[in-house]
Amino acid sequence: MIKAQRGTELRAKGWRQEAILRLLENNLENAEDQDNLVVYGALGKAARNWPSYYGIVNAIKNLEEDETLVVQSGKPIGVLKTHKDAPIVILANCNLIGHWSNADYWYSLYNKGLTAWGGLTAGDWQYIGSQGVVQGTYEIFKIIAKKHFNGSLAGKFILTAGLGGMGGSQPLAGYMADAAILVVEVNEDHIDKRIETGYLQYKAKTLDEAIGLINTARAEKKAISVGLLGNAAQVYQEILDRNITPDIVSDQTAAQDLLYGYVPEDYTVEQVTRQRATHPDQLEKAAGASIAHEIKSELEFQRRGSIVFDNGNNIRTQAHDYGVDNAFDIPIFTEAFLRDLFVKAIGPFRWIALSGDASDIDTIDDYLLKEFADNELIVDWITKAHQYVPFQALPARIGWLGHGERTKLALAVNDLVASGKLKAPVAFTRDHLDAGAMTHPNIMTENLKDGSDAVTDWPLINAMVMASSKADLVAIHSGGGGYTGYMQSAGVTVVADGTKAAAERLKLSFNNDTSLGLLRYADAGYDESLAEIEEKGVHRIDTTKYQNSHP
Ligand code: NAD
Repeated sequence: MIKAQRGTELRAKGWRQEAILRLLENNLENAEDQDNLVVYGALGKAARNWPSYYGIVNAIKNLEEDETLVVQSGKPIGVLKTHKDAPIVILANCNLIGHWSNADYWYSLYNKGLTAWGGLTAGDWQYIGSQGVVQGTYEIFKIIAKKHFNGSLAGKFILTAGLGGMGGSQPLAGYMADAAILVVEVNEDHIDKRIETGYLQYKAKTLDEAIGLINTARAEKKAISVGLLGNAAQVYQEILDRNITPDIVSDQTAAQDLLYGYVPEDYTVEQVTRQRATHPDQLEKAAGASIAHEIKSELEFQRRGSIVFDNGNNIRTQAHDYGVDNAFDIPIFTEAFLRDLFVKAIGPFRWIALSGDASDIDTIDDYLLKEFADNELIVDWITKAHQYVPFQALPARIGWLGHGERTKLALAVNDLVASGKLKAPVAFTRDHLDAGAMTHPNIMTENLKDGSDAVTDWPLINAMVMASSKADLVAIHSGGGGYTGYMQSAGVTVVADGTKAAAERLKLSFNNDTSLGLLRYADAGYDESLAEIEEKGVHRIDTTKYQNSHP
């Protein structure tokens, strides 16, 4: 069992390298299926295979501070002489030439061992467990409460599915938002894991039992989270048949992947594994048909008055491919709820205590509550997270922060490391699903004002800017498995080791990262981004000024 090293003893030649190594180990400590290096998302891997993993570990341990390890789709390729301000790791995961960028071709490469999907934070070693998306889901629920339920989800019923690495965040987010949340999950081990890790309260084996728990909690206006063993496609239909209309409906199964992710109706997990080996075409069709069935139910819930949304798993796209023409009547969570934050470059920022000591995160929580006291969003979140979010592996925290705020926090933490108030350095990362870092026309960039949804220059520019801004790790990812051809994103990690050099890296990287986010949305026509650019002094080139320059 691989676990992240804790404490202050270094195995590498400096804290930057040691930090990246601990993050890689932390990914695996948190992995859904460590034996197969799968961190989350059905197939999102930390390394291509075990020889690659050990090659990476050995390279990082021996890396000088003026060298850069190069990783290609989870496989270490070589170590290049660079300089001490260059990233110590650069990665490109899963990028295919457009014409060949489809799921069938990708699986054929995967089966030959020629590529691996890095998910978002799996392949560049930034995964912090289910907490990584808890706040995003919690903020969605809060916004829905504000828009539709007079500000409170007390007594409201949320129906959703999937208790995997990311989906496992849903019950806790719903509970924190005061709702009664039911999550349908086909794999009993995954229900048990969420209960063990403190993300879920109850397991129900029948719909009667689950609905009983939910109804009692609703009547008492008490928050509750219940995991129901079952298949979402079947259970959603059964709930419709009983004329029960949840207040909110979604799904976070690994629906993007028809071979490794979504379990079709009437299949056990074991049957899926067998049929994948013998009749993959049949399995794919069965999964697609079940997704279509589930989305038809979601559309009917929507017709009956539920607030229904896609939570970023390509489920509408799959349903559409399998004949549900109006699947996109269901809105995407980004456009429906979170875009107002992204246009201001407020997004999922994260920090990980490399000491392994939870008190380091408490110290940073205290700093945030004091120094960001007038930031309502972060104060509400940190207060709740401190109370409810259990740590998984290395203690970590997510906090949605914007331009200037991320840098302020990172520099303050660097000072806390330097002064010895934190027990060891802290690593900062952010989700790829962030303002300047992701193109996904069916998730992140759906329905942009200017129609530039599929223009993927932005994450590529982001990665180049991060490498030019002295970040410690920079990655460019593309979709794999069922996401092949749908997305591109960039990842960044910077280590606060208490040195002046780290302060420079943190400042440049995080200022430029969020600047780019603002510039991206300003370019797409969002006035809020322009206002933020103006207020915070980001240097934007306005080409409309030159409209009449050419004679
Ligand atoms: P995972 O593979 O770890 O877990 C998926 C879970 O769904 C598994 O527990 C599986 O047993 C269950 N499942 C599969 N078919 C089912 C069915 N028919 N009924 C009930 N349960 C079923 O995946 P994950 O890491 O939890 O990610 C889930 C999805 O969320 C992925 O598509 C991922 O890309 C997406 N995602 C979204 C965001 C976001 O910000 N919204 C962030 C990360 C991931």
